[in-house]
Amino acid sequence: MEKIALFPGSFDPFTIGHQSIVNRALPLFDKIIIAIGYNTLKKPLLELEKRMQLISDVFPSNPKIVVSHYQGLTIEYCTKVKANYLLRGLRTAADFEYERAIGQMNKAMNPGIESVFLLTAPEHSFVNSTIVRDILFYGGDASKFLPEGIDIKKYLS
Ligand code: ADP
Repeated sequence: MEKIALFPGSFDPFTIGHQSIVNRALPLFDKIIIAIGYNTLKKPLLELEKRMQLISDVFPSNPKIVVSHYQGLTIEYCTKVKANYLLRGLRTAADFEYERAIGQMNKAMNPGIESVFLLTAPEHSFVNSTIVRDILFYGGDASKFLPEGIDIKKYLS
């Protein structure tokens, strides 16, 4: 059976931490769907289309990577796109506690989907989209936390 992983997140914005998780997961799966979960009630820093564009620009020609978006329950979106694995990154004990609850709930809802967690590379453990967003909001330089070659100005509208 084809191994399809869904990597869900807000990705507002997609950081070097996210990029590293995807690159490390690539040898493990046949396909990785990077899916932006969005909520129309929450105002993001980067619009959905811009977040999708940024992620596509990070992986310009990798046939194993698909970028998409969804609303609603992640586990239901997995079924829709036939993903049999859910990929998540773990940075801290707080991440672990949060992910454990969600992972176990997801497993109870759909035992056929396995959650797979990769520990963050130590050099990325402090990289956090919320803080990157604050830096950008106040006009700071966040380039060292973003994938190489990404000029965030292009995606801020
Ligand atoms: P969410 O709102 O779902 O937490 P994020 O965009 O913040 O969305 O994160 C998506 C996934 O990427 C989560 O599994 C998160 O733990 C992981 N992640 C975020 N930042 C890093 C990082 N610096 N290193 C490794 N994994 C990360």
